[in-house]
Amino acid sequence: MIPVKGYAVQNATTPLDAFSFERREVGEHDVLIDILYCGVCHSDIHQARDEWGGSIYPMVPGHEIVGRISQVGSKVTKFKEGDLAGVGCFVDSCRTCPSCQEGLEQYCEVHNVGTYNSYELDKKTPTYGGYSNKIVVDEKYTLKVSEKLDLARVAPLLCAGITTYSPLMQWKVGKGHRLAVVGLGGLGHMAVKIGASLGANVTVLSTSPSKEQDAIDLGAHSFAVTKDANLMRELRGSFDFILDTVSAPHDLNMYLSLLKRDGTMILVGAPPEPAAVAGFSLIAGRKRLVGSMIGGIQETQEMLDYCAEHNIMSDVEVIPIQEINSAYERVLKSDVKYRFVIDMASL
Ligand code: NAP
Ligand code: ZN
Ligand code: ZN
Repeated sequence: MIPVKGYAVQNATTPLDAFSFERREVGEHDVLIDILYCGVCHSDIHQARDEWGGSIYPMVPGHEIVGRISQVGSKVTKFKEGDLAGVGCFVDSCRTCPSCQEGLEQYCEVHNVGTYNSYELDKKTPTYGGYSNKIVVDEKYTLKVSEKLDLARVAPLLCAGITTYSPLMQWKVGKGHRLAVVGLGGLGHMAVKIGASLGANVTVLSTSPSKEQDAIDLGAHSFAVTKDANLMRELRGSFDFILDTVSAPHDLNMYLSLLKRDGTMILVGAPPEPAAVAGFSLIAGRKRLVGSMIGGIQETQEMLDYCAEHNIMSDVEVIPIQEINSAYERVLKSDVKYRFVIDMASL
């Protein structure tokens, strides 16, 4: 076994603290990655605090991982020692169900193995995430990362990037569309960058008036504070698409009223509480409310390549791992510009 250092929570109420554990030996198809950076996703907080239920402890969060490969298994073909690599939200899946066959492993109908807070296909070995210095992953579930970008700023693409890229592709959002991004956090700021790069006219809908200039600098064409009821009334019927990245309970009906007829609201934010949608919010105007979860391996690679080509990276605050608990508190206050990334050299 390979000894690993990391940070873990022991239950839903204790802070993250130093934790030593072991990873499996490098198998024939595995790569060993020395982790350089790991992004801090709001999903890490939801899970560390058991807000979605079913959390497995001890938990080492982290699913926005970039690092360098230090060992490859005998049958590995995609990577060699010294290559950069990325790992996102899952590290295995059944490989045979219709979703896996279609490259949509995130929707595996048998068992999608989460990077953490999950079990391997054996259903008994817990998985531990990227708040750690090493990880062993099957090469099939490992992504190639370009040498030409700033690695700390690439890490958040592995979740925030793909989670926003995938539905924008699925719904063919681009030129001629008005896209509203709700919530300017980790996911939201990537949605702005990617949406604008695809040619959409992007509006940020935010609860934080202080983020207006940043929204424009990130590529948005306009900005509106959702607490301004008059402005929200003026914006009724304005958008072809709304991408909702909000992490806390909020009134979906108000946002649905901002869609044009036949418009589509895409939920990617995952507040633990159920949301109430009035039938008439959808019936009047033949509107659609849909969801989307991260992306498959092939699409994640496409997204990484797209971002490398278009020089799209996350805006980050790099922190030592010792500051992770205060970073969580700042994320909860919507006070992050716009993703915390842990520099694993601090471990
Ligand atoms: P984040 O950085 O905390 O951003 C969330 C943003 O939502 C905040 O910055 C804030 O933006 C806005 N917000 C917060 N509380 C709000 C409220 N009560 N009402 C309205 N807006 C509010 O979080 P994140 O990492 O981007 O993740 C966002 C959500 O997506 C989380 O629930 C996460 O679990 C989920 N997620 C889903 C997927 C998926 O596959 N679908 C993948 C990753 C994450 P403003 O200050 O601009 O209002
Ligand atoms: Zn995430
Ligand atoms: Zn499957």
